[in-house]
Amino acid sequence: MKVNKAKCLYCGGCVGICPTQALELDETILRVDEGKCTKCGLCVKFCPVGAIRRDE
Ligand code: SF4
Ligand code: SF4
Repeated sequence: MKVNKAKCLYCGGCVGICPTQALELDETILRVDEGKCTKCGLCVKFCPVGAIRRDE
């Protein structure tokens, strides 16, 4: 997953909805643990500003 830092509001919403706890928010750093991520796409759909996407 790729996070667009210019768009991300660091609201933490995606962190809360991720079913595998693959996302971690640390102030203004949103980390994706690719080992935990199942590419389910929930965070992509959830993000209000389209800041996270699949990197293919
Ligand atoms: S939901 Fe979007 S804006 Fe909010 S922390 Fe996640 S990627 Fe950033
Ligand atoms: S694609 Fe799914 S598993 Fe991966 S970070 Fe987003 S919500 Fe979590």
